[in-house]
Amino acid sequence: MDDETRRIWVADTGCIGCRLCERACPAGAMRVEDRQARIDYALCIACGMCATACRKGVIHDALGIYAPAH
Ligand code: SF4
Ligand code: SF4
Repeated sequence: MDDETRRIWVADTGCIGCRLCERACPAGAMRVEDRQARIDYALCIACGMCATACRKGVIHDALGIYAPAH
């Protein structure tokens, strides 16, 4: 399964590396490196907290519940 079909994913562009998503993640699954947030799907529980926390609208979910899917 690629990132586009996963329930929560981070867009390749638009991230400013503010780490709000990293701080919001209760599972330690969100990592920000080089101004790009990435999800470790081995840890992600698809709670949507990161999508809610991101002020740039970079994190999306397949169902459009937490943030609009693009
Ligand atoms: S959906 Fe939840 S567990 Fe997954 S990366 Fe976002 S905050 Fe972390
Ligand atoms: S909250 Fe959004 S802009 Fe900030 S690091 Fe996470 S994905 Fe990037």
